[in-house]
Formats: sequence, structure tokens, C-alpha cells
Amino acid sequence: MKHPECLVIGAGPAGLTAAVYLARFRRKVLVVDGGASRAEYIPTSHNFPGAASGISGKELLAQLATQAKRYGAQITRGLVRSLERTDDGFIAHVEGEAIKAPRVLLATGVLDNRPALPNHRELVYGGSVRYCPICDAFEATDRRISVLGPLEDAVRKALFLRTYSRKVGVLPLDRTLAKDDPERAPLVEAGIGVADAPLADLVVETDRIRAIMADKVEFEVDVLYLAMGAKVRNELALELGADCDPTGNIRTGAHQLTSVPNLYAAGDVTSGLDQISVAVGQAAIAATHMHNSLPRNFR
Ligand SMILES: Cc1cc2nc3c(=O)[nH]c(=O)nc-3n(C[C@H](O)[C@H](O)[C@H](O)COP(=O)(O)OP(=O)(O)OC[C@H]3O[C@@H](n4cnc5c(N)ncnc54)[C@H](O)[C@@H]3O)c2cc1C
Repeated sequence: MKHPECLVIGAGPAGLTAAVYLARFRRKVLVVDGGASRAEYIPTSHNFPGAASGISGKELLAQLATQAKRYGAQITRGLVRSLERTDDGFIAHVEGEAIKAPRVLLATGVLDNRPALPNHRELVYGGSVRYCPICDAFEATDRRISVLGPLEDAVRKALFLRTYSRKVGVLPLDRTLAKDDPERAPLVEAGIGVADAPLADLVVETDRIRAIMADKVEFEVDVLYLAMGAKVRNELALELGADCDPTGNIRTGAHQLTSVPNLYAAGDVTSGLDQISVAVGQAAIAATHMHNSLPRNFR
């Protein structure tokens, strides 16, 4: 059985930042990661503070992993299948192996819901399919933008996107806009059109996407934003009875502690803004408290 002082589950920006801090606090830290951080999908992030020329998600993850390993953090691939509490901490079960640790950080992120598009990853890297207007709407300025998702969620995102383009439309997945819909007035004021029928098909062409609606009307789209929600990776937290909000995000209090003693959470898996800068900030807070709450490690 492995015995780190701190076990970090997830090697996205949150988990890797925590590993950098904990390793620099001279703690024995082990990061276990199942792969496919959300950040891997970022073609170039232009809003990460300090990266003035932008940085790709893969490059950021590689830099963080190198930085964490430089100070002695161990990073391994594997899926933590279950987590149990013991008198003095936790035991994590990872494919035939057990890890015992007095402090655990959950940095397990979320999984985006998405439509079945054959070359989804290429479309995301090319910028024609996107998830997060806060992240990259600036780079869609004046393009023909459509938002795909359940009506209410898509309307919210579309109104946000109107800051960047006059050509914004909504492609509802569930229902169309009713005459007395409360969404109607703000949409009319913003000049945002809503398709009269739900989406039937998406056809990807070289430089655009064609959205074909159930009534056969077609829309040409330069940038398709998805507003389809996400699955929060909170299984381990739920197993231990940690409080989560109605969406499933783990609730944290001071120092990123969950409602379970010695169990911390940081990044997209918690309630709050799903952004790298938030994830790394929360990870720094969690890691510092994890260190201060462990027996002192004087040199
Ligand atoms: C296309 C796209 C573009 C984006 N652009 C930006 C941007 O420009 N700026 C910005 O701030 N944000 C951006 N984001 C959001 C950003 O990627 C996330 O906020 C960030 O990755 C969250 O980091 P995290 O560490 O919380 O989670 P993640 O990066 O998702 O990492 C979680 C990790 O935990 C692992 N994991 C989950 N469960 C387990 C388990 N049981 N055992 C082991 N490992 C597990 C997963 O495999 C994953 O590797 C973008 C997101 C997308 C999809």
C-alpha cells in the first residue's frame, strides 16, 4: 500500500497546482489521474493571467506537471474507483492497488455533455465548436454564433454572447419559444433569433456548420456554442456523504474543505466559476490548509 501524506485525485489545473504547492511544502504528495482533463481541449487560452500570448491547455498541463515533479510530486495514471474513510484519513482504491493518506483533495472536474459529432475534437481545436463564452467569446467577435442546448440555458448563453456579435441565434434542443415566454422580451430587445423547431441534424462543412432544424429550415454557423450542461465528477464525494449543490457540485467552506473532515475539493468539481484561474486559486488555498493541518514537518 502507498502512503503519501496528501493524495490528489485529478491532474487538471487544480490537482497539478495543489501538487506544486504541496511538494514545495516538502510533503509527500501523490497525484492519481484518469486522463482527459477538460483543459486538454483548450486550443489556446487567452484569458489565463500572465500568458499574454495565450497558452494551449496541453502546454499548461505539461508545464504544471513538470513543475510539480521538479519538487518531488509523484503523478500516476489510474482511476480512483472508491474512497473510504478510516480513523486517521482515507483509503483510495485504484485498480488493484490501495493508497492510504491522511488528507485527500478531490480535483476531479466535470465531463461536458455534447452532441454526437464525428470529429468533435478537431472542431473544438479549430474553434468552431466551443463550450465557454467566458473563456473565448472575445475570439468569436462579429462571427455568426449559434447556441445549442435546452432553451433556457441556450438563451442565457446567447444573451451573454451578444456582447461580442450582432449575429447570435438560439438552436433549442427541447422546445421552441412560446408566445408568452418570459425569455421573449430580452431576446427581442437583443435581436437574438430563436429557431422555430428543435434541432434535427448538424452538418459539418470545411469552414462552417449547418444546423438543420426539424421544420427543415437551415442555419449557417461559424461558431457553435454548446449549452448542454455537464456531468460533475462527484462520485467519490457522494460515496463519503459530502454535501453537494443541486447541480452536483461539491460544496466547500473555508480553505476548500468539504463537509467531510480532511477531504478537500478544488476546481470545476466545486460550486463556482469553471475557470482555470479559479481552479488554481482554490488549489493553492486547499494545499496550504492541508499542509498546515498535518503534523509539522520541521527539517
Ligand atoms: C474547450 C474548452 C476551452 C476552455 N477554455 C478555457 C479558457 O480559455 N480559460 C479558462 O480559464 N478555462 C477554460 N476552460 C475550462 C477549463 O478547462 C477548466 O475550468 C479546468 O480544466 C478545470 O480544471 P480542473 O482541474 O478542475 O478539472 P479538469 O481539468 O477537468 O481535470 C480533472 C481531472 O480529474 C480526473 N479524474 C476525474 N475523476 C477521477 C478519478 N475518480 N480518479 C482519477 N482521476 C479522476 C480527470 O480524468 C481529469 O484529468 C475551457 C474548457 C473547455 C472544454
